[in-house]
Amino acid sequence: MPEHAGLKALRLAISGVSQLVHHTDWSHDTEYEVWRLLQEDHGHWGQTGPAALEQPLERVRSWRRRVQHCWIVIDEETGRQRPIDIRSWLTLYAQWAVARRDAVTGMVDRLRKEMDTVERLAAAHRHPCDSWEFDPAVGEIRDLYNAGTVASVGKEDPAGEHMARHDPAAVRARIACDRMLLDDLLAEKHHVADDDAYTCPAATTVRDGGRNPYQQGLCDCGLDARTVRRVQLLALGYEDVDTATLRSGLWPTGA
Ligand SMILES: [Zn+2]
Repeated sequence: MPEHAGLKALRLAISGVSQLVHHTDWSHDTEYEVWRLLQEDHGHWGQTGPAALEQPLERVRSWRRRVQHCWIVIDEETGRQRPIDIRSWLTLYAQWAVARRDAVTGMVDRLRKEMDTVERLAAAHRHPCDSWEFDPAVGEIRDLYNAGTVASVGKEDPAGEHMARHDPAAVRARIACDRMLLDDLLAEKHHVADDDAYTCPAATTVRDGGRNPYQQGLCDCGLDARTVRRVQLLALGYEDVDTATLRSGLWPTGA
């Protein structure tokens, strides 16, 4: 079967980052490093900094927007690149990122920035409690607080109802909840056992309580991997994703 055109373009775009950094088509962990860079603001890969990475990463982003439910990995058996559905990929990436504390921090920082941006846009409206309502009879979206018309669309146009549901107040409410969810995820504690030997190596007394003489190792209780995966699921909501195809996990069809 010929390779799907979008997947091929995505693969070449990812490869382009590897070529820039290591002058080779697919250096070790390329799929992980490029994904990490997508999640971060101003990330580095080895000696290569954000300015040089900007263009090749933008190419990857652009194809990510079109091939949203896939990523590309190296198949361990064949040694060749192959597509992987995004949910399976997030699990793989989470396992990899656990060993890279900076990958987790970069990801959370970027998500918080995205939230700030969307919130700022929503807050640009005049009143903090702007709440919109759609009147399908006349095709108008009204601002209830100001008793004014925000926009006119066609009568019965579903776009009107859609816009009213995504009014600034609703957007801000969702972001406030997302922030609480993020804080909640990040506050979860590593496993601490009565017997020190069974305490997670990543646990610290200050953060997780208990006593941990073996601390400063990698998390083996599953918390870090779970956190990375969930933070990324949350972050997907701030990308331009088509959630229907994302959930379906279906491969793109056609060339
Ligand atoms: Zn742990």
